Amino acid sequence: YLETLAGTKYVVFDKTGTMTQGVFEVTGVHHNTLPMDEILEYAALAESFSSHPISRSLQKAYGKAIDQSRVTDVQEVSGKGVIAKVDGRTVAAGNAKLMEMKGISYQECHSVGTIVHLAVDGEYVGHILIADLLKPHAEEAIRALKAAGIRKTVLLTGDAKRVADKVAVDLGIDEVYSELLPGDKVTMVEKLLSQKAGEKEKLAFVGDGINDAAALRQSDIGISVDSAVDIAKESADIILLEKDLMVLEDGVLEGRKTFGNITKYIKMTASSNFGNMFSVMAASAFLPFLPMLPIHLLIQNLLYDISQTTIPFDRMDADYLRKPRKWDASDISRFMIFIGPISSIFDIVTYLVMWYVFSCNSVEHQTLFQSGWFIEGLLSESQQNILFIEYQRVKYFKECNC
Ligand code: ADP
Ligand code: MG
Repeated sequence: YLETLAGTKYVVFDKTGTMTQGVFEVTGVHHNTLPMDEILEYAALAESFSSHPISRSLQKAYGKAIDQSRVTDVQEVSGKGVIAKVDGRTVAAGNAKLMEMKGISYQECHSVGTIVHLAVDGEYVGHILIADLLKPHAEEAIRALKAAGIRKTVLLTGDAKRVADKVAVDLGIDEVYSELLPGDKVTMVEKLLSQKAGEKEKLAFVGDGINDAAALRQSDIGISVDSAVDIAKESADIILLEKDLMVLEDGVLEGRKTFGNITKYIKMTASSNFGNMFSVMAASAFLPFLPMLPIHLLIQNLLYDISQTTIPFDRMDADYLRKPRKWDASDISRFMIFIGPISSIFDIVTYLVMWYVFSCNSVEHQTLFQSGWFIEGLLSESQQNILFIEYQRVKYFKECNC
């Protein structure tokens, strides 16, 4: 998944519980035909089996212990609300869609906020206005992702348009789609997936609720937050263990770093083997003995591999981390063809020196010849590491046109 994170260009967010704390404060109870505390009691009881952030905030606002034996026939309608029997009376608590579904006429609320309409036995009794708070670093997290080269951020939510638009503006999210049912979220994710420039651009979905599970699976990489419900966590590829959304940017950068180091390792190993193959071919064509014994080759490779174990700890240039990264085989082969033969030039010069200067030109002197090449081989491989680092620098200067 780190590779997918490294190539992520689009990040799609769910709103409630993902970008917002999902710990609502009940800020008002309006148009009530029942006393306020009775409305809260009905809502809190009806919602008592739900794990939705709205339910949790209603429990909190109600503040008293809940006797769940008073509640029966619970039906949670994803993206709409809850219908349940409380003390034998049918209570519907949810958004406008739920009221429409039940054919109950409701009162619009003049305040901006998430609304829970409440009906008892088919009769509208009022609504509860709850103001959700944004997560502390949500806005910074979006800004950091933009700075890290994420091209587009999108907000998908089942909540009302007015609330969704406000959150998107406050957070600096590019596109927003509201009043979506769980199925609509998947359709939107599919639409966004089809708008990508290609397979190499990745789309991440970040969500927390039951209604996000399908979208989490559908996206290239599904990320769920720490407070997410179990089904969202199960559907996700990555679960954030910290509340702070800034870890998203960390994840993307870590992905690019790991990806960069993997590419380094492949480039170095491929070019070194490519170069060695050249040298051995040249030597075998002209020498009357083996240029190097199998044991030499094995030891040389082992030492080389030990030196390569440092790569995972290597830092990546800040320039490299600035853009989404994708797998590019042609870049690797270019590197292999360019750098590989350079080490062969050193090898061939060594052959000539061993042959003419040290007169290792017969079978009796083959051991000295082999030792010479062994030592030069180790040196040329470390020189190749240095060359590699320089090559990367120059290449990145070129990429950023500086
Ligand atoms: P989001 O997509 O922003 O996470 P959800 O899809 O979970 O939001 O919910 C969408 C809307 O459906 C909520 O804003 C709310 O109006 C309504 N809703 C969903 N579940 C409940 C519930 N348990 N109680 C009341 N309303 C709910
Ligand atoms: Mg949610």
